Amino acid sequence: MSFRAIIGQEKAINILLKSFKEDKVSPSYIFVGSEGVGKKITAIEFAKIINCLNLNNNLEVCDTCSICNKINKQCYPDLKIIESIKGSIKIEQIRELRREINLKPFESRKKIYIIDNSEEMTLEASNCLLKTIEEPPYYAIIILICSKIDPILPTIVSRCQIVNFGLISSYKIKEFLLNNNKNLEKEKAEIISRLAQGSIGSALKLLSDKEYFIRREEVLDDLSAVSPGEYGDDIFAKVEKMVSEIDRIKEILEMIKLWYRDILIIKNTGDQKYIANCDKLAILDEKSQIYSQEILIDILDYLEQIEEYLIKNVNTRLILERLYIKMVGVEYCLK
Ligand SMILES: [Zn+2]
Repeated sequence: MSFRAIIGQEKAINILLKSFKEDKVSPSYIFVGSEGVGKKITAIEFAKIINCLNLNNNLEVCDTCSICNKINKQCYPDLKIIESIKGSIKIEQIRELRREINLKPFESRKKIYIIDNSEEMTLEASNCLLKTIEEPPYYAIIILICSKIDPILPTIVSRCQIVNFGLISSYKIKEFLLNNNKNLEKEKAEIISRLAQGSIGSALKLLSDKEYFIRREEVLDDLSAVSPGEYGDDIFAKVEKMVSEIDRIKEILEMIKLWYRDILIIKNTGDQKYIANCDKLAILDEKSQIYSQEILIDILDYLEQIEEYLIKNVNTRLILERLYIKMVGVEYCLK
């Protein structure tokens, strides 16, 4: 692995390389961007660049020295990755970091701490980390990785260099999938690259999940049968089915979101270039003619709200009933 193998993050990587070249590496960074776009792998590769024993003039690591080797095998004592446990990073984890960071590096120039999903730090953990970020030892680098910056304490944000990681184009994802999977059909690579919505991580998950396309077909069949103004007694049966599949509710809601987003795009632009469900164009086109813009926006807004409701444990059945009512446009038909 090297920086060159990371897809679609040239801008972020160039910022890091420039700071290294000019000897202006920041003691603390925030890498921000959607899940699966390469933030963590970039942080690990950056740790290699900083510490590799045989870095060449093009700032490429050797991948064979003792340090590169240990980092690749994830057993390098001067690189620590802190991960959230059951959805949160607790003060004990940061206290341990603070204890350790005061010890000089074992065998390298810089000691690097990566805090993954750093938006999941508790307030106590954040306050504890702030003390280190305010006065870091000269040999330490802390990299916070997050998908959103808002939940991070502003006093931490103001002391870090922020590096943005953008979404990766579906073309690049498709190319990556085809280059790395000899038996993958082009059509399948095309669909996966669009459903992945800019994330290589999601694309790889979809590729390895053998059942995904069967589940997707089921959900999209259900969605194809839903039209505004056509509602019967089966709303509650459908909600019941979704409630019974609560373990994968996030996946189902994501499928519903992409479905209505696609319909809205076709309705507004007629452009197929940005359609995620590119194998369902005929039915999406049909739906775009019968759904009003108002209903589509309302459904998509509600889907955004649902994510928050689910975190707050609002009654799932009620949320999903309301969603189906919106999908069949009852609220509008009664107006
Ligand atoms: Zn090396």
